[in-house]
Formats: sequence, structure tokens, C-alpha cells
Amino acid sequence: MAKDLSQATWHGVPRQDIPWYPTVDADACIGCELCFVTCGREVYDVDISDEGGRKATVARSLNCMVGCSTCAVVCPTQAITFPSRDVVWKAEREYKIFKAVHGEARERRDRAAALSARQNAEAHIGTTTTRAQVRIAGVFGDKQFLAQLATLIADRPYDIENLQLSVPTLKGLADNTPAHMTFELASTTQEHIQPILDELKGVVAGNHLVWVE
Ligand code: SF4
Ligand code: SF4
Repeated sequence: MAKDLSQATWHGVPRQDIPWYPTVDADACIGCELCFVTCGREVYDVDISDEGGRKATVARSLNCMVGCSTCAVVCPTQAITFPSRDVVWKAEREYKIFKAVHGEARERRDRAAALSARQNAEAHIGTTTTRAQVRIAGVFGDKQFLAQLATLIADRPYDIENLQLSVPTLKGLADNTPAHMTFELASTTQEHIQPILDELKGVVAGNHLVWVE
């Protein structure tokens, strides 16, 4: 079903108050249908005769965008005409539309700024590292390292997840054989974790452990 824009407004002016729409000279129309497919507002229909002849007709004149004349420009036989541009300028003057236009322009800028801010935020999240897999090797012995790990993240928006300590053998543990510890360091607020990663490397080095990855 074709759209009906006849009740719309043009910058606050009832569309019906502005006599801007095309007229087709049926004798000049060769039925190329360019106007029909060009107009995005469904202003035109095309009548097809029993013999297959085609003629463009203005079926929904008030759907026409005020000030647009694209179909007249593309018509190969100049079969389409419009009123004088004075019609548009008169409406602009009489209805003092520019206050409404400024408001619409402001809304458009606000929408663009909001969209840009959202895209920037999404880009920031997309480039932010919020989680890292950590692998450490060495002698973990007296739990001092774990205590320092807990202190490092205490009262901060980070957590340690999936912590695992891998020891080669039980006897090896008693003999202080090097073991591996793995865990994930994650931000709980989607912040970049690089700063705390750097601090963690300091704690690792301070405990004479080896940062594997
Ligand atoms: S573009 Fe011109 S010639 Fe072609 S169908 Fe429309 S009015 Fe007719
Ligand atoms: S002037 Fe523009 S909106 Fe109006 S009928 Fe032609 S193409 Fe459609």
C-alpha cells in the first residue's frame, strides 16, 4: 500500500497549505517510468493501457517533498513541471519557519554527537584489554605470594579467576621444585588492566618468581 504523507508538516507548516507538486503533460510523457522509479515518496503511478502504452500520473501529489524537483530534472521529455519557486519562498516567509528549522538542526547535531559518543565508547571498549591470562613459575612455598596477590586486588575493581597451582610431584613440592601457577586477571568494571598487570609483574619479581606469559 502506498504511503500517504498528505497530513504531514513541513517544518511546522501543514503540507496541505503548500501547493508544491508536479504536473505531468500527458501528451509529452513517453511512459519511460523514470519518474515513477526515481521518486522515493510514491508520488507517481503509471497507467498502462490495454495496448501496453504507459503514462505517468501524479497519484499522491502532497507526498512530494517541498522544494524537490528531481523527477522534472530526469524526465527526458520535460513533461513534468512545477510551480514557481516563489511558492516555497512565500511559505518560508509567511510561516517564519526558520525557528523550527534551527530546532531541527539542533536535534540533528545532538543526535550526531550522541551517535559519535556511543561509537567512541564502543571503540574504546573494543580496544581495551579487560582480561589477561597469567602464567608464573617458581617456588611458591610459604603462600606469601598469594597473600600479596590478595592485597594487590583488595578494594580495587579487579579479580583473580581460575587460579591453579601445578606441582610436578608431591615429593618435588617438599624439595622446593619449581611449580607453575596460572590464573586470569580480570577487570570487574571493563577497565584496561595494563596498569595492574605492571604492578603484578613487580610482585612476581619481588618473590623471585618467573613471569612466563
Ligand atoms: S519521466 Fe517523464 S516521460 Fe518518463 S514517465 Fe515520467 S513523465 Fe513520462
Ligand atoms: S519532486 Fe521529488 S519528491 Fe516530488 S515527485 Fe518529484 S522526485 Fe518525488
